Amino acid sequence: MRVVVAGGAGFLGSHLCDALLERGDRVVCVDNFLTGSPANVGHLADNDDFELIDADVCGELRIDGPVDAVMNLASPASPKDYYALPLETLDVGSTGTRRLLELARSLDATFFMASTSEVYGDPVEHPQTEEYWGHVNPIGERSMYDEAKRFSEALTFTYHRTFDLPIRVVRIFNTYGPRMQPDDGRVVSNFITQALRGEPLTIYGDGSQTRSFCYVDDEIRGFLALLDSDETGPINIGNPGEFTMLELADLVNELTSNTAGLVHRGLPSDDPQQRQPDITRARNLLGWSPHVDLRTGLERTIPYIASVLRD
Ligand code: NAD
Ligand code: UDP
Repeated sequence: MRVVVAGGAGFLGSHLCDALLERGDRVVCVDNFLTGSPANVGHLADNDDFELIDADVCGELRIDGPVDAVMNLASPASPKDYYALPLETLDVGSTGTRRLLELARSLDATFFMASTSEVYGDPVEHPQTEEYWGHVNPIGERSMYDEAKRFSEALTFTYHRTFDLPIRVVRIFNTYGPRMQPDDGRVVSNFITQALRGEPLTIYGDGSQTRSFCYVDDEIRGFLALLDSDETGPINIGNPGEFTMLELADLVNELTSNTAGLVHRGLPSDDPQQRQPDITRARNLLGWSPHVDLRTGLERTIPYIASVLRD
């Protein structure tokens, strides 16, 4: 296959490029480096099956030659990033998604949309199945991200219904691993960075809120299983292992031998209190389930962040 990966120089996108190339596909990576970096795909520069295009997907985008799939991962993803880039986040989730849908349509390609567990907002149903419509504050401080992704899903299904475009929609739950930026503000990168510096870990609120963390290799394997299937989705891809932020902090401090403890900070507004994917659909329809538990995944991530901090 020849696959366009929009947002391919980001954390997840770069791992997706690697996985596609490893299985023999060709990749056209499109990125404007808003939150990603050419360094994430630097190791692919000499690969003849890899092409890097510096472009904003909200603008004109022409890809020469046949394309089998357009995979849309372009968007700021960390709360810190989308708070700093609210209009860019709304633009890429609306205009950017529309441009990429048009690209897929013009090329007779399958369109893959990287959506998010954030479409469930601060969920009152737990765990979250794909049938749940969510509990989102449409004007809240996270709304530029949540609503942009909900709009992307609506656009994607509209193209499917109106033009019969083949689509795949994945709802990604908190994913972590090497190539997360130490300063990206997400909880796993923050905690590891603080612990490696011997600082106390910053717990927002009382730390009783939960997340379910998926290791990047599992997540990408789920993307490919969905891409290769005939399912439109939406399909949750995440690890159902659910942890409070206090539990995560204790584990990071243990694995890094950090004795600086914890410090409490204010809870951001509309911060979801709980999150856990129901992955029955992924198991039954894709034969997918995660393999890497949190301890193992953190043991693989800590050395990466340590190496970036040393450079
Ligand atoms: P990331 O910030 O590392 O990657 C996003 C990439 O998109 C970056 O390389 C950025 O430069 C690029 N980009 C942003 N706007 C663009 C534009 N207008 N044109 C071209 N490129 C643009 O984030 P990530 O964690 O790799 O997330 C990738 C995707 O997965 C995002 O769409 C995100 O919403 C989704 N997602 C991620 C998670 C997670 O836990 N990592 C969870 C849910 C959803
Ligand atoms: N969080 C925290 N300390 C940090 C960063 C985040 O306690 O240094 C909390 C945050 O308030 C949220 C959870 O960790 O409850 C996950 O935050 P993240 O930004 O990683 O992702 P989210 O799931 O909120 O998009």
